[in-house]
Amino acid sequence: MKAVDVQVKGCYIGGEWKIPEKERLIEVKNPADSSLLAFVPRGDKREIDLAVKSAKKAFHSKEWNMVKPYNRGKLLYQVAEIIRENKEELAEIETLDVGKPIAQSAVDVEIAARYFEYYAGAADKILGETIPVEPGIINYTVREPIGIVGHIIPWNYPLQIAARSIAVSIATGNTAVLKPAEDTPLTTLKLVELMEPLGLPKGAVNVVTGYGYEAGAALSAHPDINHITFTGSVETGKRVMESAAKNIVPVTLELGGKSPNIVFADCNEELALEWVIKSIVQNAGQTCSAGSRLVIERTIKEKFVDKLINAMEKLTIGPGIDNPDLGPVLSQKQYELIQSFIDLAKQDGIRIATGGKRELVEKCESGYFLQPTILDNVPASHHLAQEEIFGPVLTVTTFETEEEAIEIANGTPYGLVAGVWTENAGRAHRVASLLQCGQVFINHYGAGGGIAQPFGGYKKSGFGREKGLEALRNYTQVKNVAVKF
Ligand code: NAP
Repeated sequence: MKAVDVQVKGCYIGGEWKIPEKERLIEVKNPADSSLLAFVPRGDKREIDLAVKSAKKAFHSKEWNMVKPYNRGKLLYQVAEIIRENKEELAEIETLDVGKPIAQSAVDVEIAARYFEYYAGAADKILGETIPVEPGIINYTVREPIGIVGHIIPWNYPLQIAARSIAVSIATGNTAVLKPAEDTPLTTLKLVELMEPLGLPKGAVNVVTGYGYEAGAALSAHPDINHITFTGSVETGKRVMESAAKNIVPVTLELGGKSPNIVFADCNEELALEWVIKSIVQNAGQTCSAGSRLVIERTIKEKFVDKLINAMEKLTIGPGIDNPDLGPVLSQKQYELIQSFIDLAKQDGIRIATGGKRELVEKCESGYFLQPTILDNVPASHHLAQEEIFGPVLTVTTFETEEEAIEIANGTPYGLVAGVWTENAGRAHRVASLLQCGQVFINHYGAGGGIAQPFGGYKKSGFGREKGLEALRNYTQVKNVAVKF
């Protein structure tokens, strides 16, 4: 297997690499064959404290807060350039670390670069308003940076999410502390290493690797943090919110999903088929916005599912570095979790139309490869159609009427994304207006990374928006000034 010489230097705090003593190191493994990729520090409260102190010092320094917004933008454009100059290495590291196909990692690298460009352009467009209140008073608002921002990053799209976190924090004039997931910290560390020569003030961006219950918990409970952006599971999100509440710290929560693809009989079937598959196999289904429920009109269901089975059985499975359609799932823990859902299907007599088994891949016997799986005729209220599986497992549920389709689509605790497949424009808009979720795709799904589109959830999928200009609100606070003259 191809390998990258991954040099891990330690936590990045105050512009320096800090390596703790030997007994405080975590192994980072390749999910394709369980081989060791690197050791990273098991940072805890001590490193978080240092990182927050450094971020605070940088935030209040003249070196940082006298930088013109335009120049912050220029710096971000340079980061995008550096990312593209190192795109092969970054993609390889991401694939070795997360397991995803190398072509997907290449897309992630490009998206990372584009986040920097997008927020580079936004840095000098963070506008206030004038508000006419009465003659003789000029009333205006300014958007000021919020301060020290903590970012807790999940393992499924670490590079994209680290890039987005750094780009928006810097564009808005804040400083940042990032805590990557313990399983996939390598591209976040590489990114800050690549940024070093740009000469950001020391402490403007810090990375503390470590376990969620130690470093993550310490970051979300830190009294000097001014905003937390958390991307991860609902349960951890609740914990983060509770800790932040003790310090009256605002949070943005990007949580899970159980997103439906709603397929009407009047759709373009070939197109729907293509995207239903893509949206569940991307990153082996370990995507918050995965189209994990097929909600389909009864009259076309049999034919559509047959085609789906046929197409899914042709998909290739293997180590991400060989660029298959599906790489391994992240870990044994993740594999067992997904398998427990498949076992539940068996136990409840739900038809496994295809997949449902571990795929043994030559030379990667200890990798956790799962066949793409279709669970057929799952009642809408069944646990399998309600809970996030976070693997390449698609449930199929039928509907008779448009009203029923909407009821099923809205009938889970989540509300992240929905796909709607119909050639009837009136129906498309009507359904979109009734869906309880943060993002609706009509006759497509995913929209090329969605850098400019606000992203976030309704209901248990969280609140607050990342991406697009909407995200700038999380990272700024509004001051109103009224001047009598
Ligand atoms: P997770 O267990 O909640 O972990 C997410 C992050 O939180 C990791 O960095 C984790 O660190 C950290 N963490 C764990 N316990 C913590 C604690 N007590 N306090 C503070 N931080 C803590 O979620 P995951 O399993 O990594 O990610 C999968 C979930 O994320 C899925 O539900 C998925 O839908 C969701 N997700 C949502 C979006 C979105 O945009 N809506 C995007 C991606 C993923 P460790 O890894 O070191 O434990």
